[in-house]
Amino acid sequence: MTNANTNPTSPGTDQRQRVLFIGGLGRSGTTLIEKLLNEAPETFAVGETVHLWERGVRDQERCGCGERFADCEHWPEVGRLAFGGWDALDLRRAIDLRWSVDRSRRMPQILGAHRNKPLKDDQLEYLELMRKVLLASAERSGASVLLDSSKHLSTAALLALDPALDVRVLHVVRDPRGVAYSWTKAVARPETDGEMMPTYRPSRTAMRWVTDNRGFDTLAKAGVPTLRLRYEDFLADPAGSLRAIGELAGIDSLCSGDALPFLDTSTDPVGATISTPMHSVAGNPLRFGGAELALKLDDAWRTELDAKARATVTRITRPALGRYGYTA
Ligand SMILES: [Zn+2]
Repeated sequence: MTNANTNPTSPGTDQRQRVLFIGGLGRSGTTLIEKLLNEAPETFAVGETVHLWERGVRDQERCGCGERFADCEHWPEVGRLAFGGWDALDLRRAIDLRWSVDRSRRMPQILGAHRNKPLKDDQLEYLELMRKVLLASAERSGASVLLDSSKHLSTAALLALDPALDVRVLHVVRDPRGVAYSWTKAVARPETDGEMMPTYRPSRTAMRWVTDNRGFDTLAKAGVPTLRLRYEDFLADPAGSLRAIGELAGIDSLCSGDALPFLDTSTDPVGATISTPMHSVAGNPLRFGGAELALKLDDAWRTELDAKARATVTRITRPALGRYGYTA
């Protein structure tokens, strides 16, 4: 764990809505960490808000609570508070804005705004939509800390520019060979009827691993409070890792030093009891269900990833492996 840049503000002096953004490549353990963080009474997981407009509002996919978007107890109320109802929103415009503004190719411009260059009109317009959704989610849930697991670097960098939001980033990193192996496996999407999650070639995952992780490091250097956490370190010490995350995001119940009621550290691996429903939009199938979890390291890639793919991923990521504590 590396505390790249933390700048906690004392409670009571800051009216901004705190958002803990869970960033990093998919299949790095982010959904597991999100589920555990959602057990803290101060938090509320909104899921991958980058996909809200299409998968939630337009496609009516199932929320993490298991209900269709329109039947869930959270999201219809958010639409009402934010826009006077989802029907009153110009959805076509919201989707167009997401695809023009929240893009990796606009990262240089977004980082420029972190150095005080003015935001473009479309960026301001999109941020206003996102801000309304997040503030409405906080109002409906009563949570002091929202968990946004959009993961994308560009989403984190954009949200951190909003003056009404106090964004802190949990940057999760996993051994690229584990990430690459996971993305070669076919996984069903239970929020749909029979659709599968996409699969990606190991070389593609490896290139994304290098650029995304470097990008999160750049965002931390630009002043966004960030904690870097390796998936492997999280599973080696879940309680200690949750305490560090609690300190980053001001989630007091995680860093009081008391035993966490949802963790059983007497077993190996550590057990977790998930009892708080998640109203997370989009995301990994793991967000559905799973009341009892064993927090066990998944390193199946060590035996299952074929030698050629492993060599490819190692070659592409080699210049950055050591920076994150991995070896070739
Ligand atoms: Zn729901």
